[in-house]
Amino acid sequence: MTSERPVSGEPGEQPVSGPGRESVDVLIVGAGPAGSTAAAWAARAGREVLLIDRAEFPRDKTCGDGLTPRAIAELDRLGLGSWVRTLHTQDGLDLTVFGRGYPLRWPEGPFPAVTAAVPRLEFDARLLDEAIGSGAVFRGGVRVSDVLTDASGRVTLVRTADGGEIGCRVLLVADGAGSPVGNKLGRKWLRDKMYAVAARSYMTSARGDEKMLTVAVGAGRGDAVMTPGYGWLFPLGDGRVNVGYGAMVSDELPLPGSSRSLHDAFIEQMRDRWQLVGDPENYAAAPLSIGGMVENIAGPNWMLIGDAACGTNPVTGEGIDFAMESARHAVDMLGAAADYTRVWPALLQELYAAPLAAERKIIRAIGMHPRLGRQLVPLLMSHGWRGRFVLRSAANLVADDDKDAAARLFRLVGRVSERSERPIFGHSNVK
Ligand SMILES: Cc1cc2nc3c(=O)[nH]c(=O)nc-3n(C[C@H](O)[C@H](O)[C@H](O)COP(=O)(O)OP(=O)(O)OC[C@H]3O[C@@H](n4cnc5c(N)ncnc54)[C@H](O)[C@@H]3O)c2cc1C
Repeated sequence: MTSERPVSGEPGEQPVSGPGRESVDVLIVGAGPAGSTAAAWAARAGREVLLIDRAEFPRDKTCGDGLTPRAIAELDRLGLGSWVRTLHTQDGLDLTVFGRGYPLRWPEGPFPAVTAAVPRLEFDARLLDEAIGSGAVFRGGVRVSDVLTDASGRVTLVRTADGGEIGCRVLLVADGAGSPVGNKLGRKWLRDKMYAVAARSYMTSARGDEKMLTVAVGAGRGDAVMTPGYGWLFPLGDGRVNVGYGAMVSDELPLPGSSRSLHDAFIEQMRDRWQLVGDPENYAAAPLSIGGMVENIAGPNWMLIGDAACGTNPVTGEGIDFAMESARHAVDMLGAAADYTRVWPALLQELYAAPLAAERKIIRAIGMHPRLGRQLVPLLMSHGWRGRFVLRSAANLVADDDKDAAARLFRLVGRVSERSERPIFGHSNVK
């Protein structure tokens, strides 16, 4: 990050402009689910929005392509609910724990009882279209290479790799788990505490049109060890499945093999049952920024959203829902606060700290005590309401205003876990 003095007036109150520079009200870096959702909401709120991405679209993103009930709820809010329901949807999850199957329906409740599996090549392009249709201007092939701030920490402009300079009143950083732009602004991703890695590929399968998502815990390395992770097979409805394996990693829980070896072992375990044909295509692996393990996610006129803010679910690795939700909340905050340094991490803490802490606690306990997990998970799954409780907790399907016993228990676990699972959305930017 480079510092420069403000050009004129109060720092950041006006977009900075000058010779060879353009200026916008809201600049959004990254056109994944977080950036495009933010662009759509901000443009609909009447703001001038420029959305830029280093990639030309449509572009692929390493992902399981699964849209959770929470992500579907965000699509409903955006007006894309009918579109996503014309694609390949599922009404349940086929959960396998150590070879034993527990078919579960998505619970009826505050979130739609439906999921979808949509290749990111298609999903992200559709969200971007929505942002553009809502009035945002998009530019692809533009990589942010530097960010300039004034003495108070306000972003005044960003520099792009092609030599351009863009001034802005507000910057939303939606550049993904690695967040090169967030890092320039001082983001600290606390990977030593916990993160995840996951690998996926596409394969042809005779079961590629199935209407259930499949998740297998205790697979991929034989039955001897329960890794704190799982394998998945998400049918895309076109004869293909997105197949992958993800695992949590921390100093205490090193990855028990390479991503590729876990992914390949899982495929071999599933090959016959799923009639998987040939070799995996488009193999890719990537780290996941999970559990709120981050510091410095906001400054006076900038906020990190989506994977850049590390809100992905530690149990499931799902992050599209958080990306879209955090984007909506950030846009709500644009007019509601004059300085985001404290209020943005505080809001994310209020909304997500307890569930993320509970999920981290659960995954850590299972990872550190594999035998306990091996016995406990089947025990929990063997009874209808307990199975639904596991599903709601793991998939983050407990809403703030849910009043039933399972929701209260989950919140209690979250509150207790918060004390030992800190930092979550740390505040070290706050002087
Ligand atoms: C293997 C794997 C499987 C997963 N499966 C699922 C799943 O099934 N369901 C789910 O919900 N989540 C899943 N996730 C997580 C999900 O992919 C992310 O949570 C989600 O993509 C976050 O969206 P985002 O908009 O924050 O970031 P991204 O989707 O990563 O978008 C970031 C954008 O920023 C752009 N960018 C980066 N740097 C710059 C720069 N310097 N200048 C300009 N542009 C830049 C990138 O080109 C990119 O388009 C998975 C992740 C992995 C790795």
